Amino acid sequence: MLETTVAGSLPKPTWLAEPEILWPGWRLDGDTLVEGQQDAALAWIKHQEDAGIDIVSDGEQFRKHFVHGFLETIEGIDWQLMTTMGIRYDARVPTVTAAVRRPASVHGAGAKFCRANTDRKLKFTLPGPMTICDTIANAHYDSRPDMAMAFADLLNAEAKELEALGVDVIQFDEPAFNAFMGDVVEWGVDALHRAIDGLHCKTAVHICYGYGIQQNIDWKQSLGEEWRQYEEFFPALNDSRIDQVSLECANSNVPLSVLGLLKDKEILVGAIDVATDVIESPEQVAATLRAAMEFVDPERIVACTNCGMAPLSREVAEAKIKALGQGAALLRKELS
Ligand code: ZN
Repeated sequence: MLETTVAGSLPKPTWLAEPEILWPGWRLDGDTLVEGQQDAALAWIKHQEDAGIDIVSDGEQFRKHFVHGFLETIEGIDWQLMTTMGIRYDARVPTVTAAVRRPASVHGAGAKFCRANTDRKLKFTLPGPMTICDTIANAHYDSRPDMAMAFADLLNAEAKELEALGVDVIQFDEPAFNAFMGDVVEWGVDALHRAIDGLHCKTAVHICYGYGIQQNIDWKQSLGEEWRQYEEFFPALNDSRIDQVSLECANSNVPLSVLGLLKDKEILVGAIDVATDVIESPEQVAATLRAAMEFVDPERIVACTNCGMAPLSREVAEAKIKALGQGAALLRKELS
C-alpha cells in the first residue's frame, strides 16, 4: 500500500545541460551525449531507489523537453516554420505541414537502458495527444482532433514498444486538459484511448496546472481561488480505460473533494510542491496524503510529486524525493 513515484522530469546535471531552465541546451553531443544521458538517468534511478521510491523513472534525462523531446524525430513537422500560438500564454511553436510519421523508436534505447539498470518498477512518460496539439500549429489536418488522433497513433506505437521493453507504467502528460475542458470530453479522452489501445501495462495520465515558471504563475492567478476546472471532465476521465490519474495536491488550489469524482481510478497524489525550493518535511508529505484519503481509499493512492521537477536545482529535487519517500513511509507505518 502507498507506493511512491515521481510525476516526470527531474533536473539534469549541470555537466549535461544548462541548469534550472525548461528548455536547456545540451552541453555534450554525439556518443558523449548519449553516455552523459545514461549516467544522469542512472544517478536518478539510484537516488530514487535509495529514497524508497517504488516506481522509478529516468527523470526524462534523454530528452530536452517533455513534449518536443518526443516530436524532435517525428516526420511531418516543419521546425523552421514557427507559428505564434496563444493558449495560456503566447509561444512560438513548430508547424505540422504533412502527415506525421514516426520513422524510428524515440525513447526505446533510453527505456532499455533503464530497464537493465533497476529491479524496481519502471515508469516512462510520453506527452498526451491533446498537449502535443497545444504546443504545435496545424497546417495540414482538417481539425485539431484529427491531428490529435494522428499523434495518438504514433504514441501508441511508441508505448507498445516501451511496454515490450519491460516498462511497467506508461504515463501520458496532459497539462492541456484543464485549459480545454470541453475538448477533453469531446475528443481528449478518445485520443488517450487511441494512445493506450492494446496496452497491458499500467497507464496513467498526468494533469496539472503547470510548472512553477513565471508565465504559469501569472496564468494561475487568473483562475480564481479554487480551481474547480477538473469537475467538468473528471466524470469522463473516471469512465475512461486509463488506470491512474496524477495531479497536484500539495499547496494546491484544487479542492481535494474533486478526487471523489475519480472513484474508479488509482490516484497519484502530488504531495511535493514543485513551485518552491522549500523542502517538505516527511510530516507535511504525510499530511497531504492523509488529506487525500478523505476522498480516496488508501489502496488507490500512490504518493507522487505535484509535477515534473526539471526547473529546480538538483539538490532541491534530491531532497524533495527523499522527503516523499520518508513521508509515505511514515504514513504507511501509521496505517499498518
Ligand atoms: Zn505537471
